[in-house]
Amino acid sequence: MVNDTSVPLSSPIMATYSRFPVTLVKGKGSYVWDDQGKQYLDFTSGIATCNLGHVPDAVKEKLEEQLQDLWHCTNLYHIPNQEKLAALLAANSCGDQVFFCNSGAEANEAAIKLARRYANKVKGSGSSEVVTFQQSFHGRTLATLTATGQEKIQQGFSPLMPGFSYLPFNDEEALEELTTRKPAAVLLELVQGEGGVIPANPEWVKKLAEICKDNGILLMVDEIQTGIGRTGTLFAYEQYGIEPDVISLAKGLGSGFPIGAIIAKEEAAKGFEPGSHGSTFGGNPLATAAGLATVTHILETNLLKQVNEVVTYLDSQLEMLKEKYEFIKNIRGKGLLKGLLVETNALDIVQKAIANNLLILTAGPNVVRILPPLTVTKEEINEFIEALEKTFQGIEKGE
Ligand code: PLP
Repeated sequence: MVNDTSVPLSSPIMATYSRFPVTLVKGKGSYVWDDQGKQYLDFTSGIATCNLGHVPDAVKEKLEEQLQDLWHCTNLYHIPNQEKLAALLAANSCGDQVFFCNSGAEANEAAIKLARRYANKVKGSGSSEVVTFQQSFHGRTLATLTATGQEKIQQGFSPLMPGFSYLPFNDEEALEELTTRKPAAVLLELVQGEGGVIPANPEWVKKLAEICKDNGILLMVDEIQTGIGRTGTLFAYEQYGIEPDVISLAKGLGSGFPIGAIIAKEEAAKGFEPGSHGSTFGGNPLATAAGLATVTHILETNLLKQVNEVVTYLDSQLEMLKEKYEFIKNIRGKGLLKGLLVETNALDIVQKAIANNLLILTAGPNVVRILPPLTVTKEEINEFIEALEKTFQGIEKGE
């Protein structure tokens, strides 16, 4: 049957996003250009994805090389880039084995499946429940939106998946519940990104890790937004002195090429065996070429040292803004994942910034989220502060 196109549609794209009136067609480093040739300073990095800036040469070259050879190959055969990337991730984390997929939601989906299967098949007793935290964000598939501790993300999708419960974030007393519930796993963001750029309190995380260890609960950290150098270390968990059993990754791993992964400790990885999980595209030669080039570049150029220097500068500049503008109540986050808590409409600031050639984001109604690439320079930070100050003209407290 021929589709009936007589029904007028406002757009052939489903209305899952409300989009800003900008069409981006080109990017390089910290800058992007729209279809009118207007240049913007991009402090969104495609939401913590283009961590090496746009079209980074180190990744582009490796992708171009791989494009000549082999694009795709099923996981029924060995894939050299995949094996190299898995080895690199394992060597630079507390984990041992890696499963590759294509996105953040799929990575968390894999983590949840691993936790359940580990509980059911390896331990063979106890609960297969996964505990997450209020205000968390873990993705949009049915399991990961159920894991997400925000009703607005879940609305309209009932029935949700069974086997999830939520505890308040950064609440020490609430952790006691884990000792009685003894769930299969806890899934945690070390900095809640979408939930408002809220870092987990280090003492609380230590206590959580202890409880998990003492009670045979898998500790799974969602590093989809915080991973791959975003917070100043390759993984945010390194700053908390803990060793998670499972780490989920996506976003920055492929510099914009879609790829996701979980890294698991050997014991937790026993939850999967041939046939228990899989993905057609997961870890294909192109995606893992991008991942391998990205992680290799970060490690070989010692980029994180530069990140930490630039973060000190960014922090001082943001502190200066906080002193100057009454509506900025707090600055929070870690490394190059920053949130300005504002007593005004954050979306209004983001929209006005576009007119000043600056792209930034919100994280909820009162948080302006700032995600420059890890390659950002002090000069670009100066340009950002200038554009932000222009944007702040006319912004009133409580607007
Ligand atoms: N987990 C966290 C912490 C995220 O920030 C995101 C995306 O914003 C996801 C999971 C979902 O990732 P994706 O959109 O690639 O499915």
